[in-house]
Amino acid sequence: MRKIAIYGRGGVGKSTTTQNVVAGLTDLDRKVMVVGCDSKADSTRLLLGGFHQKIVLDTLRKEEDDDFNLEDFRQVGWGKTLCVESGGPEPGVGCTGRGILTSIGLLEQLGAYDDAVRLDYTFYDGLGDVVCGGFVMPIRERKAQEVYIITSGEIMAMYTVNNICRSIQKYATIGGIRLGGLICNSRKIDQENDLIKALAEKLGTQMIYSIPRDNMVQRAEFHRKTVIEYAPECEQAQHYRNLAMAIDQNTDFVTPKSMSSDRLEELLVKFGLFD
Ligand code: ADP
Ligand code: MG
Repeated sequence: MRKIAIYGRGGVGKSTTTQNVVAGLTDLDRKVMVVGCDSKADSTRLLLGGFHQKIVLDTLRKEEDDDFNLEDFRQVGWGKTLCVESGGPEPGVGCTGRGILTSIGLLEQLGAYDDAVRLDYTFYDGLGDVVCGGFVMPIRERKAQEVYIITSGEIMAMYTVNNICRSIQKYATIGGIRLGGLICNSRKIDQENDLIKALAEKLGTQMIYSIPRDNMVQRAEFHRKTVIEYAPECEQAQHYRNLAMAIDQNTDFVTPKSMSSDRLEELLVKFGLFD
């Protein structure tokens, strides 16, 4: 089973892209579990047609006895995907990273990753930003081996990419984590694809795919569906399928080389972002 973590700046499109890619992978007959790690618990909404009913940390808090089974936490979503939402501690209380590890530990204990389940992939979405300890915990504890970073050509999104690469680099030796590439989720910035390709090259990785910005995403989201479910024939659905295929066939896994802020800024200047 491949265990994949999706990172990127808040609002860049992690949850939307992850669920659409997962839908694309189910089209390839892959069996996928999605573990939402965001306290917003919105990582599986498009696969479930609404919000998850059985958030792990909430259930653990509420229930007195600990006689749980997987179905207390896991729901079946579109394309037979297995959907879990870890939830989070109440804002300002406790550590998100710890909460996520508790959730993953519980899933392990209940046999969610066992061979008999025959999962091809687990995706972790919403592990948060680099600054928070929650980011590194799943990597440090070897819960995920493969990372994709979603970015657009917006400056802050690219700064976040570089910071995430710095963390991956730091934990690559202990956790064996590797970067599979950058996913461009377009914000219609000038020369965006060239910019993200250049950024990827400097970091020693690839731009694995570029997803266009398309209002179809919002339309599908309004109906609580992935684009692949809502409008399977549209171009955007095909882009998500292409990305799913690219991830399925990816063989380019690296320990990235993060840049100094000066070098990153040089790149942005070259592309006219500070003009
Ligand atoms: P994150 O999980 O990184 O915080 P989301 O996946 O929630 O970000 O995306 C934020 C918003 O951006 C969503 O409301 C979604 O509709 C929109 N969005 C994401 N990707 C696209 C896209 N390719 N085209 C249009 N809208 C998009
Ligand atoms: Mg999200």
